[in-house]
Amino acid sequence: MHLSLYRRHRPGVFSEVVAQDAAVSLLRREIAGGKNSHAYLFSGPRGCGKTTLARIVAKALNCPNRSEEGEPCAKCSQCISIASGDNLDVIEIDGASNRGIDEIRELKEHISLSPFSGMYKVYIIDEVHMLTDPAFNALLKTLEEPPRTVVFILATTEPHKVPATIRSRCQHIPFHRIPVPAIVECMGKVSALEGAVIEQEALWEMARESDGSLRDALSLLEQAVTSGLPTVSLKDIRGILGGGGRSDLERLVPAMRNGSAEVFSGFSELLQRGLTAERFLEGLFLLFRDILVAVLWGEEGIRSLPLSEEERAFIREESRHWREPELWKVLNFCSATLPRARYGLKAEIVLGMVLGLFVLSPAKTEERVPAKVAPDLNEEVIFAKGRAQKTEQKPEQKPE
Ligand SMILES: [Zn+2]
Repeated sequence: MHLSLYRRHRPGVFSEVVAQDAAVSLLRREIAGGKNSHAYLFSGPRGCGKTTLARIVAKALNCPNRSEEGEPCAKCSQCISIASGDNLDVIEIDGASNRGIDEIRELKEHISLSPFSGMYKVYIIDEVHMLTDPAFNALLKTLEEPPRTVVFILATTEPHKVPATIRSRCQHIPFHRIPVPAIVECMGKVSALEGAVIEQEALWEMARESDGSLRDALSLLEQAVTSGLPTVSLKDIRGILGGGGRSDLERLVPAMRNGSAEVFSGFSELLQRGLTAERFLEGLFLLFRDILVAVLWGEEGIRSLPLSEEERAFIREESRHWREPELWKVLNFCSATLPRARYGLKAEIVLGMVLGLFVLSPAKTEERVPAKVAPDLNEEVIFAKGRAQKTEQKPEQKPE
């Protein structure tokens, strides 16, 4: 059977989990000290490792060779059968698939039976917020008086949709979006293990695209690896992503700055390749936010951006050419237009509006004229002018 990259390289023990240090150390400590809760609520964005960590908890609870630090051995029959999903004491329920009615009924019938082979029966209920009211009620009854040999791990992307009565009976453990550099590092390791050669910039592009989800990142990586190319470049990744990634937009920034014809042809090409208005605006927003951070805080700001070295160099260079009010204008435009794009505003119309922003902007024409008259106008003057304008027009310049 073909296993996806994500499954093949899924962390099997606590120490392999990426970027969830707080959750991992808390759970390890509790299990090692024999003080585990009988119900946990894992909440956090998709693909950040909730069900992976739930399985590791199940292993740690049932592994006979668990270390003093709470780490399961990953080698015994308990650990192996839990990893492969064949352990009868670890029951995974998908709250989203049929809203859990049959499973919760079954759970109620079997919950009082003792575990088959391990110390604990572990119920992992994924997407728990999707359960129906009757299923929640049944679950609540079992959570009120759980048998001592049962541990519940409820996982959700939307904890506020889980009834308060359920939440209050669980130990709530929040998970975080995985930072881009951590995703890049993990993808680098996985591609090395797979014997694939992937350019660093390509890894960054995929990591950013996956928006904090390691699962999404690895599924992109899988597409890149299975393309069969000896080396996967940034260009190949652009092909997979269908255009509109960070690097595509970066290429057009100098044209945006000069208001040249390439703004139109470049954006049109991206739209033809299937870029949606929403993705375009999000990408534009993040790019200009980064330039603004560089303008406002210089090198210190640049170092705090989750970017590759090459991208940092790009932002550093661009920040020398942009003035603060212009950057605010782009950010305000993106944040004001994004909700309309989500409601179906067509990409072509957004493109037209963007052209107005970069080509017809009075700030730009003003800047271009004196630049011709006085080519030695230094940066300090431009920046000082930018700041002065910002103070004058404060009500308009505020970000939304
Ligand atoms: Zn074990």
